[in-house]
Amino acid sequence: MSNYGRIHNFTAGPAVLPLSVVEEVRDALPNLGGSGVGLLEISHRSKTFQGVVDSAVARVRRVLTVPDDYAILFLQGGASLQFYMTALNFLLPRPDGSRGAADFLVTGTWSQKAVKEASRVGDAKAIWDDAPNNFKRVPLNGEYTVRDEAQYLHYTSNNTIYGTMYHHHPDSQGKPLVADLSSNIGGVPVNMAGHAMIYAGAQKNLGPSGVTLAILSPWAISRIPKGLPAMLDYNVHIKDGSLYNTPNCFGIFVLERVFAWMEANGGLQGAITRNTAKADALYAELDRTAFWAPHAAKEARSCMNVTWRLPSEELEEKFAKEAKSAGFEGLKGHRSVGGIRASIYNACPIESVNALIGFMQEFERKNG
Ligand SMILES: *Cc1c(COP(=O)(O)O)cnc(C)c1O
Repeated sequence: MSNYGRIHNFTAGPAVLPLSVVEEVRDALPNLGGSGVGLLEISHRSKTFQGVVDSAVARVRRVLTVPDDYAILFLQGGASLQFYMTALNFLLPRPDGSRGAADFLVTGTWSQKAVKEASRVGDAKAIWDDAPNNFKRVPLNGEYTVRDEAQYLHYTSNNTIYGTMYHHHPDSQGKPLVADLSSNIGGVPVNMAGHAMIYAGAQKNLGPSGVTLAILSPWAISRIPKGLPAMLDYNVHIKDGSLYNTPNCFGIFVLERVFAWMEANGGLQGAITRNTAKADALYAELDRTAFWAPHAAKEARSCMNVTWRLPSEELEEKFAKEAKSAGFEGLKGHRSVGGIRASIYNACPIESVNALIGFMQEFERKNG
C-alpha cells in the first residue's frame, strides 16, 4: 500500500487523519455510496446524506457513551463560536433582570477566550487561573470554590497550546458542568453523563475543520431561552437534526468515517490504549535526559499535545528546522510557550512517535 509520500505529521490542528479514512473520502468524491452523486455535490436534503448524518449521530452516541436523552449536533463556527453560544444559551439573567453568573477554570489560551466571550453575556468569572505560572498544570478538585450564584462551571479538558490536561473528572460542586473537549475528545475516558454540555471542534481528533460537535443534556436543552438568533439557538439545530441550514456535509461525512474507524479499532478504549502507549514512550524520552525540559507538570501531562523546551532558543530553532528536513511536520511550539510541541492525536501512528524519538536521541547525541 502506498503512503502517497506522507511525512510524519505532528501538527496541532487540522491534524493527521487515518489514511484509510482519507482513501474513503477520495473514493466518495465522484460518487457517494452508489448514489451517483459526489460527496461535494450532494444535497443535504437527500436520503443518502440523511443516512450519513444518522449514522454519525449513532456512532458518536455509541463510541462516547452519550445518554439517550442527550442531543448530538454538528454545527459550524468552530469551538470558538461555542465560547459565546454556550453563554448565550445557558447563562441567563437573574429574576431581577441583572446579569447571571458562570464560573470558569482557566488553564490556557482557549479557556481565557471562553471567559472573555461569556463575559459579553453575563458575569463570567475565572475562579482558578494558572496564568501566573504560564499554565503548567490544571486544578485538582478542592483547589477552587464555585460561587453559589454560578449557573454552571466551564473547563477546558485539554490545553492544546500548553500540553496539559485533566486526568480526573472536575468536581463542579453540584453545578452543571460545561466543557470544551476540542483537543482530547475521543482519545481519553470521558464521563458524558457527568456533563451538562460539551463541545469540540472536529479538527484535532474527529475529522476536518469546519464542523463542531456539540452534545447537550436535558438540563442544557431546558435552559435555552426563547427568541435567540436562529443560528445561535441550539433548539433550532436540535429541531432540524443539524440540518436547519446547509451544514458542512463534507466535514460530517469525514467525521462519520473517523468514528467508523474508531469502532473498527477497539472503540474509545482502543484509542485510549494506543494513545497511552504513544504518550508514555514520548514522555519517557523527555524524562531520560535533562537536555529536554518538559513544560507540563508531571501530573497534568497531556497525552495529545506534548510540549518541551531545549537548553536554548537557538537549539530549539535548530531542532525544528532539522526535524522538518528529516520529515517531521509541525513540531515548532506555539509562540506563547516556545520550544517544541508534538501533537499525537488519535490518528497519529505509533510509528511516527517512535521515529520522532529516534530523531530526538540522535539530536541530543550531536548537540547535548
Ligand atoms: C483548537 C481549539 C479551539 C479552537 O477551535 P476552532 O475550531 O478553531 O474555533 C478551542 N478550544 C480548544 C481546546 C482547542 O484545542
